[in-house]
Amino acid sequence: MSIKESLIQIKSELPSHVTLVAVSKTKPISDLMEAYHAGQRIFGENKIQEMVEKHEQMPKDIEWHMIGHVQRNKVKYMAPFVSLIHGVDNFKLLEVINKEALKNNRVIDCLLQIKIASEDSKFGMEPDEAPKMIQSKAFSELKNIKIVGVMGMATFTDDLNQIKNEFTLLKTTFDSLKPIESFNFKPEIISMGMSGDYKLAIDCGSTMIRVGSSIFGIRS
Ligand SMILES: *Cc1c(COP(=O)(O)O)cnc(C)c1O
Repeated sequence: MSIKESLIQIKSELPSHVTLVAVSKTKPISDLMEAYHAGQRIFGENKIQEMVEKHEQMPKDIEWHMIGHVQRNKVKYMAPFVSLIHGVDNFKLLEVINKEALKNNRVIDCLLQIKIASEDSKFGMEPDEAPKMIQSKAFSELKNIKIVGVMGMATFTDDLNQIKNEFTLLKTTFDSLKPIESFNFKPEIISMGMSGDYKLAIDCGSTMIRVGSSIFGIRS
């Protein structure tokens, strides 16, 4: 199937409350443009430099999502245009994003990455750290960021039951954070699910899926 056909196929099966992020990392502009011409306007990248270059070359009505691990010293390059940063897992990073957003006279939307996988290699905040941070005085001083939800990555495994348990943990964490009130905390998004597991993720409560290889083909 072509990129266009894959995209149309996936979108035709998505419930209306689920947003599709087309993960275009490592793929050439021509592939992204094919998705763009098929109507896709939300693209996800995992490297800041690559996202900056693609942002420069692509039409300006695209929402760029940073889905990868973020190094603090590179936040400044994406601060002028990034729409959503999925992988925020510590307060220091949030402070840097806030500072760079202020310089650009913006409020940058972020998701808190929660550690749901049992592997130690995965980034993310422990589920019980999140409410402490959101309720801290220091957090309430960040006027140029807004936490709009959570993001998680399941363990890389074939064990669907384990993946389901991890997705359910993210949904439970989201539900427990929801009542917390703060002007810069308005949780609406649960970002979970990739090519191999997005259907399961949607069944477990995902509202935003990040799909790469099922749209653009496998990455070399
Ligand atoms: C690469 C990547 C994806 C997409 O993975 P596919 O299996 O190609 O759909 C989703 N989320 C993150 C954080 C990624 O790095």
